[in-house]
Amino acid sequence: MRVGKVSAQGLRPNNEDNFVADLERKIFLVADGMGGQDRGEQASAMAADIIPRVVSDRLAAKDAACDAVKRALEEANDAIVSAGKNQPAGRRMGTTAVLALEDDNQVYVAGLGDSRAYLIRDGQVEQLTVDHSVAQALVASGALTQEEARHSPYQHVLHKFLGCAGLTESAEVKPFTPHVGDRLLLASDGLTNHVTDDDLALGGQAHPNPQEWAEVLVKLALERGSKDNVTCVIVAFDAP
Ligand code: CA
Repeated sequence: MRVGKVSAQGLRPNNEDNFVADLERKIFLVADGMGGQDRGEQASAMAADIIPRVVSDRLAAKDAACDAVKRALEEANDAIVSAGKNQPAGRRMGTTAVLALEDDNQVYVAGLGDSRAYLIRDGQVEQLTVDHSVAQALVASGALTQEEARHSPYQHVLHKFLGCAGLTESAEVKPFTPHVGDRLLLASDGLTNHVTDDDLALGGQAHPNPQEWAEVLVKLALERGSKDNVTCVIVAFDAP
């Protein structure tokens, strides 16, 4: 595996995104924080600190990979809820998290919030995560079309994220078997709002070096007017 990673502050006064690109522990993560003052940065930093640590500990204790991922999300959630307890309601800290763990030739992907994971394989693009936005939930229930959701005021209102008190059902963990040539992209919405499936399908082939491709994608999102923090981690699965 090779990895590329870029996090750009863009036009925002601070960077509330964090990422992990740990080739040794084979854990990759993007977290996009929210909350007043510097709370968003704190929340995403906590996710980036706690999740890889708990996953490694649970794997060392012989937990199954899926369970290790779920446990890590729960522990990060509890810690962020506690840290935000003294914040006024409506101003609490929270963060998205999308992560991928490679273990025993399987890759386990999970996400909470609207940061996304994409698998790019043989020029095909598959979104592996579901956005936990209110608009996307309305699409799932049949109340909105996908096109209506794109323009909905609820597009970026999240109903599931880390720091959500009472988050009882943890994220779905999606496993896949990596193929040679696969690219796995983890990204915050500052990037995914501005790149298309076609960009991802073509770029994966045009930029075999994942670091170079990460730089190209972030630059593209900023050029297209992303006013948000823009972060991505790209994992390239190469011949063993
Ligand atoms: Ca964002």
